[in-house]
Amino acid sequence: MDKDKPIYTFQKLKTTLKELGYQIEKAEAYRPIKPVDVSIEDIKNGTIEITDEGIFFKTSDGRKHKGFMYKREYFLARYGKPRFHIRNCKIIQEFKARGLFTDKYRWANDYEVPVCDMDDNFIDKNVNILPLCKYCAEIQRSEQNDIYRNNEDFVNELKKAAPQEIMTDVDVLGYTKEWQDISRRYREKHKYTCERCGIHITDDFGYGYIHCHHRNNNKTDNREENLECLCIECHSKVDKNHETRFSKGANYVCLQNFVKKYKPRKTK
Ligand SMILES: [Zn+2]
Ligand SMILES: [Zn+2]
Ligand SMILES: [Zn+2]
Repeated sequence: MDKDKPIYTFQKLKTTLKELGYQIEKAEAYRPIKPVDVSIEDIKNGTIEITDEGIFFKTSDGRKHKGFMYKREYFLARYGKPRFHIRNCKIIQEFKARGLFTDKYRWANDYEVPVCDMDDNFIDKNVNILPLCKYCAEIQRSEQNDIYRNNEDFVNELKKAAPQEIMTDVDVLGYTKEWQDISRRYREKHKYTCERCGIHITDDFGYGYIHCHHRNNNKTDNREENLECLCIECHSKVDKNHETRFSKGANYVCLQNFVKKYKPRKTK
C-alpha cells in the first residue's frame, strides 16, 4: 500500500452535508484517555459513537476521541491477545445486536491496555501490540486504506493525525444545540403529527422524519408562530428552495425512505 496516499476524507460529501445543515464537529488532537468499559447503553446514548469514520469516545467536556474497542475479558493464556476493532465490523454489529447479556468490551486509544485475564483469576493485565480484527481489516482494505498490523500502528497514526473533522448525525436542520431542543420540544408538543397532511408518527425510528419548519424561512426566528411541524414529504414541497434541497444528498435518501415506509400506497 502506498504510504503517502492520504486517507480518503469524503470532503465532497462533507461539503454537501454542511450545506444541508448537518453539523461537522472538530475532534481534539490526540491525547491518551484512560480505557473505559463499553455498554450497549453507552452506544445508545452516544458516549461511544461507531461511525464510518471510526469508533469515538465522547468525554464529559463533549469532545470526541478516536480509538479502538477490544474484549475486556479474555483467556490470555489459551487464546493470546484479544483483537482490536476500529470499524463498525461484523463483530461489533453482532455485539450491538445481541443487547445486554453479551461480551464485554473496552474502548481505549493507547499502546497498552488492561485486559481481564480469565485464565488467571480475572486479574487485569496490561497488554500491548493487539492484532487487528480481520473484519475491520477487510473494511479498511475495501476502502484502500492502510491496514494496521497492530494497535501500536494505529495509535501512532492517531498521534500523527491533525485534529480531524467528524460528522455528527443531527436533525437535518439542526444548526445549533439550542435549535435542536426548540425543534424537539415543538415536535413533541404536536405529538409528531404533520400540520399539513396529518400523518402521525408513533415509532422512535420515525421521529426524524418529522421536521420543524420556519414559515418565514428565517432560521433564527424561533418564535412558535413561525414554526410548523411537518413530515419530511410535506416539508420538501414547501417552496422551490425546499424542493431543491430535498432533491439530492442525504435529504433525498431520507425522503425516499420515508415515502417507502409510511406512504407506500400513495398514488398521486
Ligand atoms: Zn472488527
Ligand atoms: Zn405531511
Ligand atoms: Zn423548512
